[in-house]
Amino acid sequence: MTVIDAAQTGWVPAEALRTADPELADLLSAEAERRAGGLQLLAGENIATAAVREALAGPLVDKYAEGYPGHRHHTGCAVADATELLAISRARALFAAEHANVQPRSGTSAMLAAYAALLRPGDTVLAMSLEHGGHLSCGSRANFSGRWFDVIGYGVREEDGLIDLDQVRELARRHRPKAIVAGSISYPRHPDWAAFRQIADEVDACLIATAGQVTGLVAAGAAPSPVPYADVVVAATHKLLRGPRGGLLLCTEELAERVDRAVFPFSQGGAAMNEVAAKAVAFAQAATPEFGAYVRRAVDGARALAASLERAGARPLTGGTDTHLVTADVGPLGLTGAQAERRCAAVGLMLGKCAVPFDPAPAAETSGIRLGTGAAAALGLGPAELGEVGELIGALLSGGEPGPVAARVRVLARGESVKGAR
Ligand SMILES: *Cc1c(COP(=O)(O)O)cnc(C)c1O
Repeated sequence: MTVIDAAQTGWVPAEALRTADPELADLLSAEAERRAGGLQLLAGENIATAAVREALAGPLVDKYAEGYPGHRHHTGCAVADATELLAISRARALFAAEHANVQPRSGTSAMLAAYAALLRPGDTVLAMSLEHGGHLSCGSRANFSGRWFDVIGYGVREEDGLIDLDQVRELARRHRPKAIVAGSISYPRHPDWAAFRQIADEVDACLIATAGQVTGLVAAGAAPSPVPYADVVVAATHKLLRGPRGGLLLCTEELAERVDRAVFPFSQGGAAMNEVAAKAVAFAQAATPEFGAYVRRAVDGARALAASLERAGARPLTGGTDTHLVTADVGPLGLTGAQAERRCAAVGLMLGKCAVPFDPAPAAETSGIRLGTGAAAALGLGPAELGEVGELIGALLSGGEPGPVAARVRVLARGESVKGAR
């Protein structure tokens, strides 16, 4: 199975789309060109493999299959059942989990189901605060999590940027949450799942691991797995895993029924069976040695990127990374995160502005940038190239000429400078 392919390059709309809807065909062609012309460094983005795209576009796109294998509300589900059972068994094997639910449409829907399985509205939840790297499903007032639950936020220490487990313990003892949520969208180090479990046990709380960013790392054995520690693990299949846009829930056999009911019928109707099929493909791909090599390239690349950003005068949070994520304060370079994002986007370096802990800048500006190396590693870029990307970003943010940087980015984005990339 070939995992490494650059499905984004050379995409052309099929005849059926060009004929039926030339306007949309042109839009999609423009997007394919935009992606191929730059380096995609947004932390949550990647390049789904060609096999995943094929499964997404396949016949199951039309199938209605409410319920679970063997217990459907619709007829004609033999293939849908076999597909979902295949996805489930592959997910269980890949993550060494007793139970998997492959139906959540997104990470946030999977979070909703995890809360619904374990909590009641009004319960207290202790989660990473949004300013310190929590996702909006960790208690934003604009999201169900902050609206329906009483969410207390923990954060990182100012001196080293690491999660303050003493604060987590102290807040847990004071507020007695029903659930502790561990996981982040921008924290570049491995969470100490065992310590979170210990704190949860001490106050009789359950532990939800929100592991969307690190799902691919865990699949490849490149990060400690939350599965042995968390009651429910919320994962995402479209990030480092290179699967379809979607969520995944992992839990013990004991919680299986509650988790399944929290997805269907509580928070979703019929599953998108084409997405379930594509998830099955992604789980098989993630079990290959090739995928392991790609994940190592992403992590080594992120380390090199963080190091060169630091040499250029930015300040990587926690001093570096253990993952594919780099979050860096660009304040020392005299720029806000939004200014840095715009300057980089103008030369095809697509990264995201990001609040840093204790950020003095307004939320729309921020002081930081966040990058992920998944898509770059999928193109074959490794530490040498990503170290260079850090230098290019550094030069640009220090007022360097954009022209030569843009030219070099176009070459790197083709993956052609990389030996044996394909
Ligand atoms: C990606 C991610 C989410 C959200 O996933 P969506 O599919 O965008 O809803 C939530 N939490 C964490 C930790 C994530 O990494």
